[in-house]
Amino acid sequence: LALGPRVRPGVNASAVLRSVVPGEDLVSAALAGKRGEIETWLQNARGEEIPVRVAFLPAGSGSAVAVLTDLTKMRRLEQELRQRERLSLVGQLSAGVAHEVRNPLAGISSSAQVLLGRFEPRDERTRFVKAILDEVERVDRIVTQLLQFARPGEPRWRRGSLAETVRHLLEISGPWLAESGVEVETVLAPRVPESWFDPDLVHQVLLNLVSNAVQAMPKGGKLRISVRPLTRRGVARSVGRRREDMRARSAGRVPSTRVVQVRISDAGEGIAKENLSRLFDPFFTTKPSGTGLGLSICQSIVQEHGGSIHVASRLEHGTTVLVELPVDRRQGERRNR
Ligand code: ADP
Ligand code: MG
Repeated sequence: LALGPRVRPGVNASAVLRSVVPGEDLVSAALAGKRGEIETWLQNARGEEIPVRVAFLPAGSGSAVAVLTDLTKMRRLEQELRQRERLSLVGQLSAGVAHEVRNPLAGISSSAQVLLGRFEPRDERTRFVKAILDEVERVDRIVTQLLQFARPGEPRWRRGSLAETVRHLLEISGPWLAESGVEVETVLAPRVPESWFDPDLVHQVLLNLVSNAVQAMPKGGKLRISVRPLTRRGVARSVGRRREDMRARSAGRVPSTRVVQVRISDAGEGIAKENLSRLFDPFFTTKPSGTGLGLSICQSIVQEHGGSIHVASRLEHGTTVLVELPVDRRQGERRNR
């Protein structure tokens, strides 16, 4: 509790057990022979307010025993639980809204298509119909990303090759990348071990990152993607522990994690310093038609895999995103659903 230097013989107990609730005197209550338990806040020597549970036991002849339990951790867990419940409610709501929005959207889109077919190509009214179609597509994109973020499906874990997932992504994105003037350079390390992941989810991550890179290079440019195995010392706290970790620790070794690192570097506009800390905030975007959900989705998927994602950037020079996923079965935290 860090009650600290105030605890000395001869110091008035009321000065040590100082409740932040006005008029609440824990010591007098205890000495009055009351028995019981209260939850309250105490101020410690550093002036911090600590949630505590105090249990009193009268110990006879004008003395009492008070047992203090620090509730900081429990309160934090309670708060996390509430946050989770709130997020899962958001998930249910957005799934409902997304469903309701998608049907009318499909109606608007097909009617606009029909209309487009009725006009001569050179009719200037086609401009308006195309604007409708563009906007419909944009709303559809927002709804899709919102669903991916708020209502992620159960991962389908498989042992497979991340290098293969990268290759597949680049293959199907080939025409789009060429059209955007983006030249891709891929470096695949020899002997990348297979890892344990959901290929569809990781595909989503990489696609989001490649999209961001392409959007950061409106005039085109070079996109570098490399895949290599690495060993990281230590194990992320949020990640499922394994028996080998305990063995390593008891043998005085730091447990290590084998990971596969995917590095995506663009030579685009870069990210301003003041934005770096907000990249992963849901809905943070600097783009006129961005959703701000891409990186949030990436982060939650990567965390669920027990991996990590980091962004480094220099304004006007480019951005590098590092994604590391563990090789061995080591699930991270389940996202809310
Ligand atoms: P969106 O792409 O819809 O804006 P994201 O979550 O994917 O949402 O990205 C959030 C913001 O992070 C972007 O609006 C942009 O400002 C910044 N960003 C992400 N990736 C890059 C990149 N490769 N280069 C420059 N800025 C980036
Ligand atoms: Mg994006």
